[in-house]
Amino acid sequence: MRTTTGLALLAPGGTLQPSTIERRDLRPDDLAVRVTWCGVCRTDLHAVQDASSGPLVPGHEFVGVVSEVGTQVTRFAIGDTVAVGNIVDSCGTCASCRAGDEQFCAEFPTLTYGGRDRVDGSTTSGAYAGEYVVREGFAYALPAGMDPAGAAPLMCAGVTVFEPLRRFGVGAGDRVGVVGLGGLGHLAVKFARAMGAEVSVFTTSQAKVEDARSLGVEDVVVSRDADAMAAVAGRFDVVLDTASAKHDLSPYLRSLRADGTLCVLGIPDRYEADPMALMQGFKRLTASGSGGRPRTREMLDFAAAHGISADVEVVTPAEITTAFERLARGDVRWRFVLDTASLAQA
Ligand code: ZN
Ligand code: ZN
Repeated sequence: MRTTTGLALLAPGGTLQPSTIERRDLRPDDLAVRVTWCGVCRTDLHAVQDASSGPLVPGHEFVGVVSEVGTQVTRFAIGDTVAVGNIVDSCGTCASCRAGDEQFCAEFPTLTYGGRDRVDGSTTSGAYAGEYVVREGFAYALPAGMDPAGAAPLMCAGVTVFEPLRRFGVGAGDRVGVVGLGGLGHLAVKFARAMGAEVSVFTTSQAKVEDARSLGVEDVVVSRDADAMAAVAGRFDVVLDTASAKHDLSPYLRSLRADGTLCVLGIPDRYEADPMALMQGFKRLTASGSGGRPRTREMLDFAAAHGISADVEVVTPAEITTAFERLARGDVRWRFVLDTASLAQA
């Protein structure tokens, strides 16, 4: 075993504290990565709030520098900058894995934290830490010239919105609606615009209207305004719903054209929708999360080609609890990224 410093929740109800955590010794196809930037995903907040047992180290969208390689590593060398997302292994043989949809692995993908290692059965610890050890097959070379802090959130938030935009074939002239303007939402706007779509944002918050306009959207619809919602009925080809709180999906189904698709990216307890809103126009309701390896690679290359990265606010390890409190109330433009360099030195 090797050790590093991580921000760990040691007992339910506590806060994240710097702690010595273990990493596995390198297997032949492993990389050791000195983590430099790790995005703060809403999943991390929920994991810490919901933890029923410690310890827990969050963090599943990160960038770092390869510091050591296993004996059979072929694709990376010491000093390479790599990015890693929320999946670090999968069975590799099921139909989904063979199709490059590792996120749907029939034997469940190994998650970057809180997952079960497929070799030794241990629980994975995330990248709010100085070092992470990962199979080379689940690390991605960061395209040259990309800002590493702004790239880290692409690895969860970015691929989560890029996957459905690609799967539904969004392209020039399509009308895309994005519900919610946070880490996922602002990246959905950037990717959809770069694909040539006309993008509108739905927000509950009048306060976010100007922020949304600054991202270059066609229209900002305040979803609590019934007249504004009626005005966009039948308009969109695809709506991506990034809102995390439970809400009625019917107004967004009504905003779709016939045969349009509403893809939900948040995970409420239950979906709530008026069946007529779905039936009228043969509309599709689907859900998505994360993406497989080919799509992740494609997403990074697309982002590099179009100059897309997340708008981030950098926080230090000492500021993580404050960042969680601000994230819980939506007070971030648009993603916190943890500067983990000091953890690597600790
Ligand atoms: Zn995430
Ligand atoms: Zn599989």
